[in-house]
Amino acid sequence: MALLLLGACTARRDATRTPAPARASAITVRVQHAAGTADTWSLTYELPTPSHAVRFTRPGHGYRQSHWRVLEPAGVSIERQGDEDVLTAPEGSSLRTLRLEVSTYAVKPEKDYQVFIPYSDGSVLLYTGVLGLTSGEAEPPPLLVFLTPRPGERVVVAGQSSAHEVRWEGSPQGTYAYFGSGPAVQDGVTAVVDPGMPRPLHEHIERLLPRLFALYTARTGTPLTFEPALFISFGPSPNPGSIDMSGGTLPGLVQLDIRLGANRLAEADPEVTTRVSELVAHEAAHLWNGELAVHEVAGGDWMHEGGAEAFALRALADLGTLPVEHVRTRLSRAVSECLSKLEGAPLRESSRPGKYTNYYRCGLLISAIAEASARQARPKADIFSLWGRLLRDVGPRGHYDEASLYAAFASEGVSPRTLAVIRRLVDGPNSDAESQVLAELRLLGFEPQACDGKSSRHRAPCWRVALVPFLSQ
Ligand SMILES: [Zn+2]
Repeated sequence: MALLLLGACTARRDATRTPAPARASAITVRVQHAAGTADTWSLTYELPTPSHAVRFTRPGHGYRQSHWRVLEPAGVSIERQGDEDVLTAPEGSSLRTLRLEVSTYAVKPEKDYQVFIPYSDGSVLLYTGVLGLTSGEAEPPPLLVFLTPRPGERVVVAGQSSAHEVRWEGSPQGTYAYFGSGPAVQDGVTAVVDPGMPRPLHEHIERLLPRLFALYTARTGTPLTFEPALFISFGPSPNPGSIDMSGGTLPGLVQLDIRLGANRLAEADPEVTTRVSELVAHEAAHLWNGELAVHEVAGGDWMHEGGAEAFALRALADLGTLPVEHVRTRLSRAVSECLSKLEGAPLRESSRPGKYTNYYRCGLLISAIAEASARQARPKADIFSLWGRLLRDVGPRGHYDEASLYAAFASEGVSPRTLAVIRRLVDGPNSDAESQVLAELRLLGFEPQACDGKSSRHRAPCWRVALVPFLSQ
């Protein structure tokens, strides 16, 4: 499952987003607002063959008992059996048509997708993965979903935007469908940005998105082979100073939810603008490095997480969205935190609790030295040309691994010496990672300096780097 919380995320492992043609055995479900209500939904299922019992393909976390109700057949309820939610026909009968009513619940279950994500203007995102049913087949039957907006509203799903019924068929993994009247940005990306967020932030995101997608496409030389969708909802946070961001990624789709405290609603809060920009740019990068191409390397998350961090930093710096000093802080923090948290272990062993951020920090550090090394050979090289080479090497929907990434790096001019440093960080031994990395940073011109001028021998490493290699073109 692809899921992210507070900026942590995983790229999608499932590249099967091309809908299969509808088969006779598909279960269909029609979804719309219940007549005259804003918060209640009507679901009508048609099963291809009568079944005595069916179960939902994904867990309901108890909400199918509290917020879902079976209207037809009468007398049937959704029973929770362990992690599964089951519908059983009365003795001697079977299920064929099911009518259900669901009250909206905006609750984020731990480690699962939120089923309903409200926008501040009454629009809502619905996670279709919650709708899947099966009667026990080895492979759940295809689900054909018909989504109907209310009069005056639209449904936006999988690149379609319509004021009428939309048909969606996809993997059991599901997607988010938008029901509402908000305007969509449609310029290389279909995006619905919550109109209730502070005006300057809203305008900033709407300006940023087309430029960001155009930059990723042009600089990698690789357009997406699908129409991406981006949903950004907004709401208040009870803590006055807080900036809370969460979201999820699904095939072809980035979903972000931004919650701001009362003190963060000022006309233009620079910290909010920066953090939102970085999150949007990071998640959008996964459309290239986690979907257009994918990897399944255990312990290899540094590739897509570090790559997304580097894409975001370079793109936002080049678009003039990030102050140079902020870029310096981010790179310096990546060096310091990577060296401090590896604790001598290979980077690939960071899939443990408390260590996962190594994939971001060390991944960004690796991206930065790879880029600087390539630039010494080819002044026009950058993180996009390195990944562009990989994306062309593996082709659309191709799979990559560390060997193919290193090969692409080498082809774009990353030196054998730098690649050896990268390999060692990833595979170990890392007992002397600090001296290895600092030596490489010096050779590349990053001029690492201890934060307070003192050696960091007895404390957590803290280093400041120069930006000369990052800024030189
Ligand atoms: Zn990520």
